Parts: sequence; structure tokens; C-alpha cells
Amino acid sequence: MYADLHLHTTASDGILTPKQVVLNAKEKGFMAIAITDHDTTAGLAEALIAGDKYKIEVIPGIELSTLDGDCEIHLLGYYPNVDNIELQQMLKKMIVARKDRAVKMVKKLNDLGYHLLLDRVKEIAGSEFIGRPHIALALLEKGYIDNISEAFSDEFIGRGGRAYVERFKLTPSEGIAILLQAQAIPVLAHPGFLSKGPPLMEDVIMALVDSGLRGLEVFYSKHTSEQVEYYKKIAEDNNLLITGGSDCHGQNGAINSIGSIKLPYEYVEKLKMEFE
Ligand code: AMP
Ligand code: ZN
Ligand code: FE
Ligand code: FE
Repeated sequence: MYADLHLHTTASDGILTPKQVVLNAKEKGFMAIAITDHDTTAGLAEALIAGDKYKIEVIPGIELSTLDGDCEIHLLGYYPNVDNIELQQMLKKMIVARKDRAVKMVKKLNDLGYHLLLDRVKEIAGSEFIGRPHIALALLEKGYIDNISEAFSDEFIGRGGRAYVERFKLTPSEGIAILLQAQAIPVLAHPGFLSKGPPLMEDVIMALVDSGLRGLEVFYSKHTSEQVEYYKKIAEDNNLLITGGSDCHGQNGAINSIGSIKLPYEYVEKLKMEFE
């Protein structure tokens, strides 16, 4: 009886549709999964229907990107009320900001001599959600890079890189507030693994707890065993929920592929109790 509470779909920058993610998890023997797309709830309805059909518990979720100074902090929100107007207005604003920013990054790349078509990037994205992984795929397709992670370097669209453009982001406390007012349970995603910045330490986490944070993603595909111990202790000492997930974006064989984290179901029960 195990779960994976951090999964992405084509509604954000995952490769598999929500239904495919559900089927994949079912095949791998999961009892429950959470769909946590970046800054959107658009994949949840399809996933919940598939969960019903294929008899696997699907927990609705979201992963909000926030910015604390130079530090990108991700917040998971479980059981959001998707009809909450403030939440949806904010998500709409974020999607529009993503589009504007993609236009700017593609322009910068073209100016640098990397000839990409915005329409091709949009086609790769396949939905309203345009992220750097889609631009990375377009660079790969054109032969400008040999693998996706190369795109996230200083030469291309790594944070602070030559063609990087920052986009609108909430602060962590604003993110927690928007989740709470939409009845979602805010949990700090991968505290030991920030795309930019060192692992988060207890003082930063405690400040987030003061803002209303309710849990920590202790078990994460890229956490070391020392980090798991460290964050587990902080959670236990402060009566915080413990969650875990792979952060799978659909790639097979990747370090964070589905199955890399098997969260004991007892943690899901505690999360549900918090919701009810
Ligand atoms: P964005 O939200 O558009 O800024 O893109 C961030 C996403 O890019 C993350 O959620 C990851 O999926 C992906 N990403 C970030 N850094 C890397 C990296 N070094 N290699 C591969 N993918 C990355
Ligand atoms: Zn992602
Ligand atoms: Fe994340
Ligand atoms: Fe994620």
C-alpha cells in the first residue's frame, strides 16, 4: 500500500496525459497518487475520472512556483477547491505571464543565433502552459543542444542564463495564502532540492510554517538519505505532515520516474484527515 504524491502531466510540462499517468501508476501497483501540475488545475478533472474508472485513488493537487529573493521555492497544495475564484484568477495571470515570457526567451535565443519558431515551441507545449522544458525540446530538435539539461545552462535558459527571462512569481507567503484560501493544504516541495539555491534549512522552513505551511515533502526522488532524516525530524518535531513523491514528468528510466518513491499509505491517511 503505497502512494506517489507528486506527479506532472501534459497539463503542465509532463509528457503523459492525466489519464496515462493514472494508468501508469495503476500498472506500477500504486494505491494512490496526486496530480500536482505546475500552476494549473487543468489536468485534475481527467485524472479524477480515470482514477474512478481504473480504481486508483487520485488526490487533486497543484505545485505553485514562488520566489523568495533569489530562491525558487515550490509549494504543493493538496485538495484545492478548483472553483475558487481567487485561485483561478491567479493561475490565469501566471499562464499569461508564462506565454509573454516564452515570447521574450525565444526572441533572445534568436538574437543569439539560435533560430527557433515560437509556433513550434507552442506546438511542443501542446497546451496553454509553456515552460522552459518546451523551449529546451525545441533547442534539442534543432540540434543546438545534445540533451535537455544543456538548455538549463548559462548559455541558454538556465536561471540567469543569456536567454533567460524571469517570470511573474508569488512570494512563498503569498503562495501559502492563496492555497489556504482555496482550502488546499500547503506542503513545501523538495526542500532539499531547489532548482536554484542551497537546500532549505530549519529557520526558513519555520518562517514558512508561521505563514501557514502544513507539511514537508520529506521523501523525494532526489533527496539524499541524510536529507530525508533531516526533514523528517523537522516535520515530526513541529507536527507537520510528511509527504513524498517522485516528481515524475513522464520520462522512463529517469531518476525521478514513477516508482522511485513509494510513500507508505499511512502518510496519505494523515493528509486526508487534515483535509476532512
Ligand atoms: P519554468 O517553470 O518554465 O521556469 O521551467 C522549470 C521546469 O524546468 C522545472 O519544473 C523542471 O521540469 C525543468 N528544469 C529545471 N531545471 C532543469 C534542469 N537542469 N534539467 C532539466 N529540466 C529542468
Ligand atoms: Zn516540471
Ligand atoms: Fe518542483
Ligand atoms: Fe514538480
